[in-house]
Amino acid sequence: MSFSTLELSPLIQQAVAEQGYEQATEIQRKAIPIILDGQNLIAAAQTGTGKTASFVLPILQRLSAGQTQRKKRIRALILVPTRELAIQVDENIKAYGKHLNLKSMAMFGGVDYAPQKQALIDGVDILVATPGRLIDLYGQHSVHFDEVEMLVLDEADRMLDMGFIEDINKILARLPENIQNLLFSATLSNPVRELARTAISDPEEIVIAKHQASKDSINQYLITVDKDRKSALLSYLLTERDWSQVLIFIGTKHGAAKLVSQLEKRGIAAEAIHSGRNQASRARVLEEFKQGKVKYLVATGVAARGIDIEDLPCVINYDMPFPADEYVHRIGRTGRAGAKGEAVSLVSRDDFKNLCMIESRLGHLIKRQTVEGFTPNKEVPISILNYVPKHKRENRKEN
Ligand code: AMP
Repeated sequence: MSFSTLELSPLIQQAVAEQGYEQATEIQRKAIPIILDGQNLIAAAQTGTGKTASFVLPILQRLSAGQTQRKKRIRALILVPTRELAIQVDENIKAYGKHLNLKSMAMFGGVDYAPQKQALIDGVDILVATPGRLIDLYGQHSVHFDEVEMLVLDEADRMLDMGFIEDINKILARLPENIQNLLFSATLSNPVRELARTAISDPEEIVIAKHQASKDSINQYLITVDKDRKSALLSYLLTERDWSQVLIFIGTKHGAAKLVSQLEKRGIAAEAIHSGRNQASRARVLEEFKQGKVKYLVATGVAARGIDIEDLPCVINYDMPFPADEYVHRIGRTGRAGAKGEAVSLVSRDDFKNLCMIESRLGHLIKRQTVEGFTPNKEVPISILNYVPKHKRENRKEN
């Protein structure tokens, strides 16, 4: 379906065409009419499905009908889990709204308050914010919520995983009643539904096929290897396989820094982005990666949350993440919006528990490979697909 049938204004359609989008994606076809109609919505859609445009386009349309920025008053609030995602969503708003007279801003912690305060004084229509910094600035009377018309909770599952529930509830309690509420999440897990119940009255619901991306456009496989041989295997793969760019995920910031130096010792230049680096260097590295100046980027999951690079050919999991949804988020960085991608996981015996949970979540085993010279001494068992972690089994008994 083309965008012209979605009742978006010509100026928005023009901006979308300038982005090179020809057809609306499934989430866009389903969500845009509901949001334009002023209804509340909860939607299960992963990154890579085009979900950002599915809420940004109708927000732009609705807001461009009313009056624009007033000092310290915002009209749409988009809450996101990380600064990288805040920047990404804000970039999308600016691209899709480039022919409109609406202002947007990304607000997040770890940087100076002053420019954010000044921007709010100058007037912002659409604020994309991480919860902590928003509460700070609200407390300092730098932003008022009395003119908010629309709220989006983006990547709600992730915000809950990161422990933002109290902050979110504080913000919700301060927003006007009867605004339009939208919630997007990779999955509609019980905690997400609980949040939706308290935050969003009488919503429409959309579910986009859970593993759409992983089924069609991502070639997923794992390579079993002993833990102490992982960095050697990684170096071998980066040298042997012909990937133009690779995003490598790892669990901890220390792991990321160590891995970069191990790669360097083998003559492979890589950069790392993790929470231990300051905002300016994270932004710089990310930009260089986007421009293709950095070929290999090692990232922790949180830091990589908002990374959106078109046609990223390969994602490598240096370890298997917990919780299982994190795996889905990680591999969602490749094979985006129709491009083919590879998602390779390096799995050693001590990844087994997380592997079980991931394969149970996917509902299938991930294809296995070994690489000559790296066959593990410690075998990785085959998962039982309905694996339930022990603490959950106990909860189940109680229920
Ligand atoms: P998202 O799911 O919002 O993270 O978007 C994933 C990627 O798809 C981004 O790079 C968007 O620019 C791109 N995208 C969004 N909508 C479309 C579309 N209708 N056609 C092609 N690409 C799109």
